[in-house]
Amino acid sequence: MRIVSGIQPTGNLHLGNYLGAIRNWVAMQDDMVNTGGEAFYFLADLHAISQPHVPAQLSANTREMTAALVACGVDPDKATLFNQTQVPAHAELQWLLNGTARMGWLSRMTQFKDKAGKNRDSVSVALYTYPVLQAADVLLYQATHVPVGEDQKQHLELARDIAQKFNNDFAPRDENGEAAPVFTLPEPIIPPEAARIMSLRDGASKMSKSDPSDLSRINLTDDADTIMSKIKKAKSDADALPSEPAGLDGRAEARNLVGIYAAMSGQSVAQILADFGGKGFGAFKPALGELLVDKLAPINARFVALRQDRDALDAILRKGAAKARAAAAPTLAAAYDALGLVR
Ligand code: ADP
Repeated sequence: MRIVSGIQPTGNLHLGNYLGAIRNWVAMQDDMVNTGGEAFYFLADLHAISQPHVPAQLSANTREMTAALVACGVDPDKATLFNQTQVPAHAELQWLLNGTARMGWLSRMTQFKDKAGKNRDSVSVALYTYPVLQAADVLLYQATHVPVGEDQKQHLELARDIAQKFNNDFAPRDENGEAAPVFTLPEPIIPPEAARIMSLRDGASKMSKSDPSDLSRINLTDDADTIMSKIKKAKSDADALPSEPAGLDGRAEARNLVGIYAAMSGQSVAQILADFGGKGFGAFKPALGELLVDKLAPINARFVALRQDRDALDAILRKGAAKARAAAAPTLAAAYDALGLVR
């Protein structure tokens, strides 16, 4: 099994990013190590320029995200961790695949329609061809499996269509007429449980870096005292916790706090309510705060140290990129050759 997954570099990382995305990468990496597979993880910095961005922020976020991934347990010795920019084969293969991808296929991408909205004429060409770069990202490494959430399923289907058409049209044939496919068709895998963490101030909106209130989220940079005080100030209600999960219906804030406890402790919501049912938030919040401090303290310590060590971060990305370039080279060469491009 070879899995390939990318994440856009963002700053101000919070508990939602950790529980909803980064932690899954660590789990999949460890799975791959245990089963003899390989994980390729990249920061999608080339994707980031498809929408308006501030250059200095993009480079800072690329390093910040790298620090967060490593602090949270992505191990550059177990997974190949790099940024796209340092592996030019991503951009090269995208161009080669642009000859195979059809306008009609891209026009059907719902994410483009959502992101472009009514401004189709003023969005970048990159936003339109973004799914072709995504196809290159995974086909380059002969990925067998790609973790995808609901919103990315259509893009993986497109990657498979592109791979299939390219193989059909251009795969070299041996003397018996048998085609040797250039690309592996990747299968989707549903990432292991994707927790959705809500704002600490409003159980109806998701925890986000763009929420103006810092009290709405736990940042990976927050120290123990800050975590404790944010949990104590978190919006809740005056009732005791129920003994069964169904009792959380209509209590968005209570559900979110119990959900965070469940995600951090590895216990089910039912188990937690069996312990805390009948108790109020005066008892639950300190327990949740302590759990968070306990689990996040080592991550926080590594993150805070690493994010200011630019040399160490750049060395991590350089080393990962060298491994990725070597892994990508044979497929890129095969694609050039199949197209009749002299190199
Ligand atoms: P934000 O909403 O803070 O801008 P991003 O859109 O940059 O976060 O998300 C980066 C990654 O973190 C994505 O994979 C996203 O699914 C995950 N993520 C972000 N916020 C949450 C959340 N509140 N709960 C679960 N996952 C989240």
